[in-house]
This record gives sequence, structure tokens and C-alpha cells, in this order.
Amino acid sequence: MAMVQLPDGTEVPALGQGTWRMGERGGDRRAQAAALRLGLDLGMTLIDTAEMYGEGGAEEVVAEAIAGRRDEVFLVSKVYPHNASRGRLPRALEASLKRLRVERLDLYLLHWRGGVPLAETVEAMQRARAEGKIARWGVSNLDVDDLEELGPALADCTTDQVLWNLEARGVEFDLLPFCAKHGMPVMAYSPIGQGGTLLRESTLEVIAARHDATPAQVALAFVLHRPGVIAIPKAADPAHVRENAAARALKLAVSDMKELDSAFPPPRRKRPLEMI
Ligand code: NAP
Repeated sequence: MAMVQLPDGTEVPALGQGTWRMGERGGDRRAQAAALRLGLDLGMTLIDTAEMYGEGGAEEVVAEAIAGRRDEVFLVSKVYPHNASRGRLPRALEASLKRLRVERLDLYLLHWRGGVPLAETVEAMQRARAEGKIARWGVSNLDVDDLEELGPALADCTTDQVLWNLEARGVEFDLLPFCAKHGMPVMAYSPIGQGGTLLRESTLEVIAARHDATPAQVALAFVLHRPGVIAIPKAADPAHVRENAAARALKLAVSDMKELDSAFPPPRRKRPLEMI
């Protein structure tokens, strides 16, 4: 199984699991937890969640999924920008830990940049780590200029979680090379375009048919081909979970990549970071 090395040497699977839209009102939480457990069984042991998802509901689903198997899991959660201050971050973190029923997060991310100065958030993250509540910290939805603003703290930042899929390739111009240069892995969110129009695109269908695969697997193989990238597709349907896990075996040929490039042209100039 492909692994990605974090700056501190820890290895995590290149293919993990997302949880947005889980734990929302009216959703089947037991089925969602079962899907995540199936993903763990299939080696997708990095789970990404956030206090925002289902306003805490997704973290509760994750708690159910990882009960009794905490040691297998690399657990990531995120703090709302308005909670990312010196005073509020410790309380938000404590609430996440409580909902997740764990003592410590493996990684805690700033969900996106808000009004709190980055330096203050970094200080709060570092304090939480010193107290043993998180093992590492990172960011999400930060563009290159924001990362540069971190200054020396960039060396301490574990990852930047950003939108990256065939329909949103802007990060290939500068962000992915920047992170590679600094030895920082990137987490690709919405790697299959939220299961939308991308999966009905004809080039994907043709390439998928050639490999006896599905369009979603081609979309995942596209992001996974790049070293230092962790993809976190979300799937509550067990058939999707199995399909995504099997995408790790799909290796795209140079000719496949060329076809993808003509259907989804890579960026030729700087594009502002896209986010959902
Ligand atoms: P995604 O993973 O690209 O797509 C999820 C959607 O695709 C779901 O509707 C899912 O359906 C469907 N799906 C999953 N596997 C499939 C397959 N093999 N074939 C067909 N459809 C499939 O989108 P996402 O949830 O936006 O992104 C993934 C994760 O990234 C999130 O869950 C979250 O953890 C994280 N994220 C972070 C940010 C951020 O700002 N940091 C933003 C967005 C997302 P079922 O659920 O029915 O299986």
C-alpha cells in the first residue's frame, strides 16, 4: 500500500477517508460508521473530520467507527477559523476530543483562514501539542502566500489540505511544487469532485473502461500518482468504499495522463486557490 511520509518521519496511507456530510441530521449514522470501519479494514486508516461537519455530528460518527481500534487510526480534525484564537482553540479542541472520545488527535488543522492572525493560531496549536492534546498541526485552504507568511513555523506545519481534482488543477502550478520543495505533504480534498459531473466526463469513462475500472477510480489514481499526496475521498456507501480502496491498484499510463491533460488542461499561470 502506498504510504506518505510526514515531515516528522511518520508514515500514513496515501489513501484515507473523508467525513463531510456524515453525522448530519436525518443521516444514518450507524451505516456511516460501518462504512468508515470497512475503510479501516481495507487499510484506509487515515480519517479526516472537522468540528464543522454536521456541527460535531461527523466527529461522533468517527468516534463510533474507531471505538476499540484507536491505535490503527491516524485521526485528523479541523478547527473553525473563528475558534482558532489563543483563547478559543483550547476549548474547541477539548470539545472535538470529547466527541471523538479520544485523548489526542494525530493532526489538527486550521480549516481555512479567518480573522485570527496566523501567528496566533500557530502559537495555540504549538501549545496544544506541548500539552499532548495533538501530535501535530497543519493548515487547510492556504495558498502559497499564506504559507510563506508562516515564516519559520512552516517547517513545523505537517500539511496543507486543499481542493485538488481533475476539475480544479490550479494547485499544480505553484502550491504543489512549493509544498514538495518544503518537504510538506498535501492532502487532496474532494478528489472525486464530490461525486458530481466529473464522474460522467467522457474521457474518464474511456480511460476507466480501458483499465476495467470506474471513473471515480481514475480520478483517484490521478491524484495518487503524485508523490507526497494524501487523498481523502468520502464514501458512506460500502460499494464506493471498496471501489475507492481498489483504486490504489490502478496505475495510469503516460498516454492516459496525456488524455487527461487534454480534457482537463493543467494550469499555465497562477490561479487563486479554489476552495469549496
Ligand atoms: P469527494 O470525496 O470528492 O466525493 C464524495 C461524494 O462522492 C459522496 O457523495 C460519495 O457518495 C461519492 N462517492 C464516493 N466514492 C465514490 C465512488 N467510488 N463512485 C461514485 N461516487 C462516489 O468529496 P468531499 O466529501 O467534498 O471531499 C472528501 C473529504 O475531504 C471530505 O469528506 C472532507 O473530509 C474533506 N474536505 C475538506 C475540505 C476543507 O475545506 N478542508 C473541503 C471539502 C472536503 P457516498 O457518500 O454516497 O458514498
